[in-house]
Amino acid sequence: MLVGHYAPALSARRVAPEAPLWALFLAAQAVDILYFGLVFGGIEAASLHPGEVPKFEVAHGVWSHSLAMTAVYGGGALAAGRMLGWGRAGVALAAVLVSHWLLDLVVHVPDLPLALDQASAVGFGLWRMPLVAMGLEIALVAGSTAWLIARVPERPARLLRRGRRGVVGRTLTHFGSDPNRSLSRCHSEFSKVQPSEGVTGAMR
Ligand SMILES: [Zn+2]
Repeated sequence: MLVGHYAPALSARRVAPEAPLWALFLAAQAVDILYFGLVFGGIEAASLHPGEVPKFEVAHGVWSHSLAMTAVYGGGALAAGRMLGWGRAGVALAAVLVSHWLLDLVVHVPDLPLALDQASAVGFGLWRMPLVAMGLEIALVAGSTAWLIARVPERPARLLRRGRRGVVGRTLTHFGSDPNRSLSRCHSEFSKVQPSEGVTGAMR
């Protein structure tokens, strides 16, 4: 899975808004970042199959893409979050990290090890149907984005309140910061507009 990994990150942002989006995105891709690092380091390996579907397979990925190690990394993230007092954000980061393996399980051909043994690899192989896999990824990202955006229905009301505060602030600035001067200027301007009404008399 490629962009679909961002869906759990976007959903987690709604549940734990205190978690920074960049950190959630990083957690979503942490397993792949580790994998590519280990491949370049010669510790893990990738198989490329040009002209075939899918073109790519994890040939050796027990440290980055095994269920066992994913559980270890998720547990580590949870413990670190607890130690650092991240609260809900720590839980969200750990959950997003673990979600990587579960989403990979849907699309990968059987190349995701359960334990530290590549022979135990599993995968439902949705990548064999590229259009369906792509549709799923787009639906996941679109759905989670819509769900995240729906969290802020109060935003227009907040903007309106801020706008009102802005109007009050601008009005006070216009009439000056000294309350007495403001009141007299307000009075004089009001008198100019409605000199004949009883309100002016009352203000005097
Ligand atoms: Zn992966």
